[in-house]
Amino acid sequence: MATDSMICRVCDNEERASEGYPCDQCGTFICLICFFKGVVRCKDCTVKFGAAGSTENA
Ligand SMILES: [Zn+2]
Ligand SMILES: [Zn+2]
Repeated sequence: MATDSMICRVCDNEERASEGYPCDQCGTFICLICFFKGVVRCKDCTVKFGAAGSTENA
């Protein structure tokens, strides 16, 4: 098994890294399913920076 699977930091599912996206803030792995739901930040960054769309603290 040489799959490049990673654990999504939003839903904790194991998905292929090549089919995921990096967190908008820290670059950690987010799976394609969560990305399609509009999630662009991991759990930790959602707590720190809020949900997607809020770019107030530039
Ligand atoms: Zn996910
Ligand atoms: Zn993050």
